[in-house]
Amino acid sequence: MRPPRLNPLFATARALKGVGLKVEALLNRLVAPAHQGAHARVLDLIWHLPVGLIDRAIAPNIAEARTGDLATLEVTVAEHRTGGGRRGARAPYKVLVEDDHGASLELVYFNADPTYLKRLLPVGSRRLISGRLESYDGWLQMPHPDHVVAAEGAGNLPLHEPIYPLTTGLSNSVLRKAIGEALTKLPKLPEWIDADFRAKHEWPSFGEAITRVHAPEAEADLAPSSPARARLAYDELLANQLALAVIRQRLKRRVGRSLTTPGKLRKAILSVLPFKLTGAQTRALSEIDADLKSPHRMLRLLQGDVGSGKTVVALLAMAAAVESRAQSALMAPTELLARQHLATISGFAAAAGLRVALLTGRERGKERAEILTALKDGSIDILIGTHALFQEAISFSDLGLVVIDEQHRFGVHQRLALQAKGTGAGAELLVMTATPIPRTLLLTSYGDMDSSRLDEKPPGRKPVATRTVPLERLDEIVAGVARAVKGGAQIYWVCPLVAESEMLDLAAAEERYAALKKQFGDKVGLVHGQLPGKEKDRVMAAFASGAVSVLVSTTVIEVGVDVPNASIMIIEHAERFGLAQLHQLRGRVGRGAKDSSCVLLYRQPLSETARERLNVMRRTEDGFVIAEEDLRLRGGGEVLGTRQSGLPAFRIARLPEDQKLLEAARDAARLILTRDPVLKGAYAEPLRLLLYLFERDDAIKLMRAG
Ligand code: ADP
Ligand code: MG
Repeated sequence: MRPPRLNPLFATARALKGVGLKVEALLNRLVAPAHQGAHARVLDLIWHLPVGLIDRAIAPNIAEARTGDLATLEVTVAEHRTGGGRRGARAPYKVLVEDDHGASLELVYFNADPTYLKRLLPVGSRRLISGRLESYDGWLQMPHPDHVVAAEGAGNLPLHEPIYPLTTGLSNSVLRKAIGEALTKLPKLPEWIDADFRAKHEWPSFGEAITRVHAPEAEADLAPSSPARARLAYDELLANQLALAVIRQRLKRRVGRSLTTPGKLRKAILSVLPFKLTGAQTRALSEIDADLKSPHRMLRLLQGDVGSGKTVVALLAMAAAVESRAQSALMAPTELLARQHLATISGFAAAAGLRVALLTGRERGKERAEILTALKDGSIDILIGTHALFQEAISFSDLGLVVIDEQHRFGVHQRLALQAKGTGAGAELLVMTATPIPRTLLLTSYGDMDSSRLDEKPPGRKPVATRTVPLERLDEIVAGVARAVKGGAQIYWVCPLVAESEMLDLAAAEERYAALKKQFGDKVGLVHGQLPGKEKDRVMAAFASGAVSVLVSTTVIEVGVDVPNASIMIIEHAERFGLAQLHQLRGRVGRGAKDSSCVLLYRQPLSETARERLNVMRRTEDGFVIAEEDLRLRGGGEVLGTRQSGLPAFRIARLPEDQKLLEAARDAARLILTRDPVLKGAYAEPLRLLLYLFERDDAIKLMRAG
């Protein structure tokens, strides 16, 4: 239960003075977190931090204002002067404003959108403007003011006014008032940061920090490095690290079983593998073996690029579990991938006498019942399935090891929590991810987790020659495809992400498919997420057998699919894909003996970051490098915040910039939990408040559960 004194913060914003239906709707749009049923709460307003300030201390009238000064002036909009210069000459857009003494000044906009400016500065309206002054042709001008806000109620404004990110229809002053009200609801809270640590950084208390961030007095107060902001960022990171540490500890605390040293079964598998393990695979396995043998529970991340050979490592780990007479489960994010794992594993597993079964949404009725029975009576050694299976009531005879194939980075936090409760609660846990995770992200999404890296490709892999080509040259590419098909090549053709809507993506894929079919007939296949499972299998099988040469698809092929003969990857509208995704897609080729290539088709003009992304793809194939570049290009805030990444969204902390604070938070969380593993002691009360405050209280529930 949430401590009652925090309740006012979790009330809807509507409860605030001055917030009526209309403002509430605007606030909902502006700050409501999606998971909260789209209702803005008092807390959401408190976390809504200013991005600028109006320093009304510098408020001369126009006559006194000097060129070169940063000035904040209260003015009336007199006239809009649209460029009007000679044809071809791009004259700037000017807005003439006047102060109460009749002196005037020009606001100057280059490449302006007149509609926008007319809305921002209607003739006759009163505005507070702030920006740097210049003179031109004897005119006093303010090119591109930093701030333009309505001047209503300016008389009783404080000297410094925070400027908040807004939404259409909501003015800064209305929002400022609402936030001001929200701040009055903040209860007095005890300190949760270690006194020495806080003193060292000269951080204010939590309450003071919140007050200060909403009342900046200088630009420096807006900087992430300001003591108030840094403190809040640390608070947020501490809540994050503490929650993860609690989950992790709960997973590990239960004295795990000591699985025996792998021997016969593993040898049997190794003897039928058509290759030798890479050094990285051997290293990862010995790390896993050490975890399995130890009395603590394994909680390990296995990171490795597509094609780095994670599946084999998983199989050998599972063999070790089976050797200790325990069962293993391998869970994949999609059905397609579950089947792929089955295909990779079953041959080798059979050689060692391991009994493997597949269970997805597609096994129904009698077949399903039989599998469930066999799981229960122990006649299945390894179960391969989809993540969804965790939500079901499946009982094993004795589940010893769970391998989760993440591929993507989504939902890991939740999944770990789920794992702690559901199927496999007592089992050793290995999480595989094909998207290498930069250290920063590893910490924020998994906490202080053990990790093994497969940073060495199996021998014989050839580099994938990567080219970027503008869409205008599509015909050339199609001609190239025709030549390649004639020569026996197989090609993936990935269609654009049109929207975050499967239907629209599908339409694009179908269109491309139809166009290619005209030329290549039955040699083209189409696969997408909406296809019924059987049909998907049929197309994939046709591609695997070589009957289909060109496989057109939406991004479903991103996860899974291993067709070594496929040597060309074409990605349409590559500029719309994230780096991690491009990297994953490209990893589908370069697995066989043929020279491979990847064509990134893009639409011009490219945005700056899109261009950089494509350049990174051309430059390197190293997933760990690409992951770091991805983080750099996206800017941590976005990486961590996007739904797509599924990583915890931070409201205040910014990564990777706040890396140092993150590491400090990790160390603090570690220390706190060694002293008090369930945060029960009286001194832990502030920390429990912290978890509620940052809505990481699922960790508290977990502790209570055992
Ligand atoms: P991942 O799951 O990491 O993407 P896989 O485990 O599917 O990679 O392995 C990709 C391919 O490489 C498979 O065909 C696998 O049999 C093969 N492979 C794995 N390890 C090695 C190795 N040490 N040497 C050669 N080939 C390997
Ligand atoms: Mg794999």
